Amino acid sequence: MLSWDDYDATANATRSSGEFAARILPEEQDANAPAVAPRERQFAAEDAAATRSTLEETPSPAVEATLTLDPAWRDEGPSTVEPVLAPTPPVRAVALPKPPPVTTAKAPVDRLDGAVPSASVETVTRPVDTAATTVAEPNPAIQEAVAARLDHDSEMQESQRVTVDQKRMINCRADLNQLVPFKYDWAWQKYLDGCANHWMPQEINMTADVSLWKSDDGLSADERVIVKRSLGFFSTADSLVANNLVLSVYRLITNPECRQYLLRQAFEEAIHTHAYQYCIESLGMDEGEIFNMYHEVPTVAHKASWALKYTRELADPNFQTGTVENDKALLKNLIAYYCVLEGIFFYCGFTQILSMGRRNKMTGTSEQFQYILRDESMHVNFGIDVINQIKLENPHLWDEEMQDLATSMILEGTELETRYARDTMPRGVLGMNANTMAEYLQFIANRRLAQIGLTEQFPGVKNPFPWMSEIMDLKKEKNFFETRVTEYQTGGALSWD
Ligand code: FE
Repeated sequence: MLSWDDYDATANATRSSGEFAARILPEEQDANAPAVAPRERQFAAEDAAATRSTLEETPSPAVEATLTLDPAWRDEGPSTVEPVLAPTPPVRAVALPKPPPVTTAKAPVDRLDGAVPSASVETVTRPVDTAATTVAEPNPAIQEAVAARLDHDSEMQESQRVTVDQKRMINCRADLNQLVPFKYDWAWQKYLDGCANHWMPQEINMTADVSLWKSDDGLSADERVIVKRSLGFFSTADSLVANNLVLSVYRLITNPECRQYLLRQAFEEAIHTHAYQYCIESLGMDEGEIFNMYHEVPTVAHKASWALKYTRELADPNFQTGTVENDKALLKNLIAYYCVLEGIFFYCGFTQILSMGRRNKMTGTSEQFQYILRDESMHVNFGIDVINQIKLENPHLWDEEMQDLATSMILEGTELETRYARDTMPRGVLGMNANTMAEYLQFIANRRLAQIGLTEQFPGVKNPFPWMSEIMDLKKEKNFFETRVTEYQTGGALSWD
């Protein structure tokens, strides 16, 4: 009789040589069966390989158990004897950690949607029996807490249906998990428009940019500075915007259709940051130099720090709207990010890069910026609609002090962007210079002021770059589809072959 060691050695040798599969498979085959398609043969081979792999890697617990038996049993033959398994160890009582005191909310229920509770929450703290307990006998205090939680959840289901009249941009008490009925149709339409404009950075061909950037006489020194500064500022600026949206603004805007757009906008900011990273990587730039410009280059750093100071207060998890002071803090944040950061700080760099593209230089980078600018112009329009709606619903917030502050913020932003223009254009370049850019920024500032109902501060100023308005036109989409990379596949077009 073979010993168990002999059996294992033989079995291992057979499995490793492949004889096992060769011996079994022909016996199971039906001679009259139709020919097996090559693809199915491949599946059968994969299944057989997977089975062998399982046998080798996962020994059965029953097999392991038999190895502990008395050797005398093996000599009697395995057919009539039940394997004797090792006895199950006795269940031991496990002491649970000391539970914390249970706090029960009396009324009202917690708001998971960020809406404002209709009354203050009174809590009752009840001491808990802290004696050690066992798994076999669940702690009655825990059972009681579970029952209380389930009762609490059932209270949430008693909420009433939402009506349009209850919906408000800030400090809304209605259920924010109900998207409809819409109150702000413009917000839902912007969400739909944003989705219709979807694009990805990899769809844009960067080949010409790479060869131009790497050639010694491709771009002038001033043009190279413009490319690097633009990527340096924007690569972090869109992250600032995304973080402000997600970490500060989102929970304070208490309207579901606006939140729907904010979610779309947040993803677009991620796409924009992706686009800058894609350009930086494609061109083989020094990533450390580019991504640290918002710390190290003063005219870039100043813009970033100006915006950051308007998000710190709101980023505090304990910050809540509902007081005049805090509602004004939210309004300041929206003006800082929508009217100034996205509405002014982006405009010098965008104009410079798009001017480069018009001159057939850095056309891939320029195209990326064109799609980003199209998204950004919608972000600005959405933000201005939100600001104006908050003013409409809360006229007490839009007092003279707030109007003066908003005007100063837009003027500060215009000044910082003009300094950036002078820093990046010490000489005339690409058919523009710092003075024409300053004029353009004043034109943009006038528009931002007028859009939120303030007086224009630069009367009579004209737009020196009318071609920028044409590029921002949302209807101009034909170039996008003509330049799509054909290999790109959307999820719905994937094939398994
Ligand atoms: Fe944006």
